[in-house]
Amino acid sequence: MLKTFDFEKLPIVEVVNEILYDAAKRGASDIHFDPEEEEMHVRIRIDGELINYTVIPNSLKKNLITRIKIISGMNITEVRLPQDGAIKQTVKDQNLDLRVSSLPTNEGEKIVIRILDYSMSLKGIEYLGFSERNFKKIEKLINIPSGIILVTGATGSGKSTTVYSILQKLNRVETNLITVEDPIEMNITGINQVQVNSEIGLDFASVLRSILRQDPDIIMIGEIRDNETARIAVRASITGHLVLSTIHTNNSLNTIERLLDMEVERYLLASALEGIISQKLARKLCDKCRKKRATTDYEKDLFRKVFGMEVNEVYAAVGCPECGNGYKGRIALHEVLLITQEIRDAIANNMPKDHLRTLVYNSDVNTLLQDGLEKVINGYTTFEEVLKLIELDDDVDDVRMGSYKYDLNNALEHVGFTKTNPINVAEINKVANNNAAVDNNSLYKNETITQPSDNITNQNNVNNSGQPIVNKTTEEDLFDTQILDI
Ligand SMILES: [Zn+2]
Repeated sequence: MLKTFDFEKLPIVEVVNEILYDAAKRGASDIHFDPEEEEMHVRIRIDGELINYTVIPNSLKKNLITRIKIISGMNITEVRLPQDGAIKQTVKDQNLDLRVSSLPTNEGEKIVIRILDYSMSLKGIEYLGFSERNFKKIEKLINIPSGIILVTGATGSGKSTTVYSILQKLNRVETNLITVEDPIEMNITGINQVQVNSEIGLDFASVLRSILRQDPDIIMIGEIRDNETARIAVRASITGHLVLSTIHTNNSLNTIERLLDMEVERYLLASALEGIISQKLARKLCDKCRKKRATTDYEKDLFRKVFGMEVNEVYAAVGCPECGNGYKGRIALHEVLLITQEIRDAIANNMPKDHLRTLVYNSDVNTLLQDGLEKVINGYTTFEEVLKLIELDDDVDDVRMGSYKYDLNNALEHVGFTKTNPINVAEINKVANNNAAVDNNSLYKNETITQPSDNITNQNNVNNSGQPIVNKTTEEDLFDTQILDI
């Protein structure tokens, strides 16, 4: 349903305020003002997808653009060149922090407003949807005094949210924490943040060289984009600094390869690299209307391959007045790799790619596919979302290569077979035992199915040693607002 405004009565200032306020309130990440021949279309991006929001008559188009340019500090007389601006203002009860960009198109200026929402970064790393197992690895990683930690993913994968959450955790009076960013998306008290300004030659590499003379303990580099930045980052991390950065790659393995392509010295990378956190964002199922459905043969087969177990039901998106299309908010899928000595040796000794691949996926790592499918079983997202995000062939191969050691007890614990879980544990138990007997071809027969079944019947909130299972991915904890990205 398109939003309508009474343009006769409402001054343009109010129209702009209402659009900004309403979009932010709906959890939109961006607002697009698209000039067209007849009128101006306004779309908003919610949970990663653009939807039509309203239409502005052509007679008001110029006033509206002028108003946005004024409040974002742009030059209103310049219409032929792209411009950038920012808006910080409070509309009603909302504190808005917006980045504005204009682009001259053949139909006039197109404006895109990015709505920065720090709520997830401020909540803390505990609330980013890491599985319990991955969260433990993150805790280990961020306590390392020096080395390099990379957060990887495509644009819009929530890398910034993860990085800012880690920074908040590391932000202590005893540490000198300096960042170099483009742009600075969130101001954090206690941290020295430097904005790159390429117009005056202040690029990542030059800021980094200066930072190293500023007695830093922890350095955050917004993004490793070029060879020089990559080399300085690695050198900084082997000289006793903890370096945190992001890089535009898909998974752990690609990240190592990409860094080597960037002419980072192998032996330095081998000793510097500590961990890689890869992530993607899936739309999160609305818990008000999600509905169970039976799994298809294809899905069953994939669950068998990945977890070595039978999954007969998953949740599907339905749609209700609360969510519209069955999804509300987003949830991150993660792959967290801690660099082992074997992986270091393989990097340093220039081992073939396949060897490195085997080592990476043989280590204690859950691939994005495995993490995604766990979240499907948990009812946080759908099978379709995971398939849309992950190149299946690659990932299934990775699982095979790695002779995935995901035993059934672990699977159940990590997948969180708690009271909210739809799956009948006794059923899985039975199937698993049957599989062990009949499925000689299973790649996982040794890893997944030989666990004693007694333990698995314990399905509520304690694990086998009687410890409470803290399931980090509880409903309200997960992404329910838009995600930042660099
Ligand atoms: Zn719903």
